[in-house]
Amino acid sequence: MGLLGAHVSISGGVDLAPERAHNLKCEAMQIFTRNQMQWKARKIDDDEAERFSDNLKKFKILKTMAHDSYLINLAAKDEKTLGMSKDTFIDEIKRARLLDIDFLIFHPGAHLGVGEEQGMKKIADNVRRSIEKTGKGKPRVLFETTAGQGSNLGYSFEQIGKMLELVGMPDMIGVCYDTCHSYAAGYDITTESSYEETFERFDEVIGLDMLFAFHVNDSKGGLGSRLDRHSNIGEGNLGKMAFSYLVNDRRFSRHPMILETPGGDAAYEKDLRVLRSLKRKGAKQVR
Ligand SMILES: [Zn+2]
Ligand SMILES: [Zn+2]
Repeated sequence: MGLLGAHVSISGGVDLAPERAHNLKCEAMQIFTRNQMQWKARKIDDDEAERFSDNLKKFKILKTMAHDSYLINLAAKDEKTLGMSKDTFIDEIKRARLLDIDFLIFHPGAHLGVGEEQGMKKIADNVRRSIEKTGKGKPRVLFETTAGQGSNLGYSFEQIGKMLELVGMPDMIGVCYDTCHSYAAGYDITTESSYEETFERFDEVIGLDMLFAFHVNDSKGGLGSRLDRHSNIGEGNLGKMAFSYLVNDRRFSRHPMILETPGGDAAYEKDLRVLRSLKRKGAKQVR
């Protein structure tokens, strides 16, 4: 079973997040390192960063992810938004590095009518430049699979693969698979054969060696609905079986699997319980 975790709050300081994750019995966690709805961010000082790492050890959080700001669009049309997006993305990498976070997850971006090819090229260029500016080291920057709402890119494995190829730097980038988004984008994992087929396809087009993390969310929208609406585990259209294939897949046994489901801590506790029970019931091993 993967390293189960949840997206936890940083209210009161990033250093408080590991204990919140621990209280949910998580082995991995995701945070925003800033208010995700504001361009401006409070500085993280060295003391806070040190307390954060101490707490990761103390509370035994094995893998950490940061999710980038919702305002960033690396394919933005107008120069002002694009400029702020580029600067903020670089800042996201720097903040994650200061905190020694393993993975920075980002939504590739929306082309807003400019066209998919041009949008993907712009995103890849901006990701590459940001990594060039910040240099080697953590975090590995992960493209999140999207539902393809509006003009959002990254809804097909082909698009993700293309962008990874355009960036180059395979040791600095990768993919975070969001179960809700990809289902809404048309990738079925609700039966054993569709699950196998989807990850075979992923392997052919992108390569499973580029897959580093999961967002485990059930989906309010149907297969191919392109709707980005998360449900609690077992309460959406994916259903429990889809998650039982995933948590029992030995290929992903050390991958962080992060909940971003609605309802706060009480709902997280329930979702984590469901995920753990799927393993305990001895669900059929896919691999
Ligand atoms: Zn996301
Ligand atoms: Zn989503």
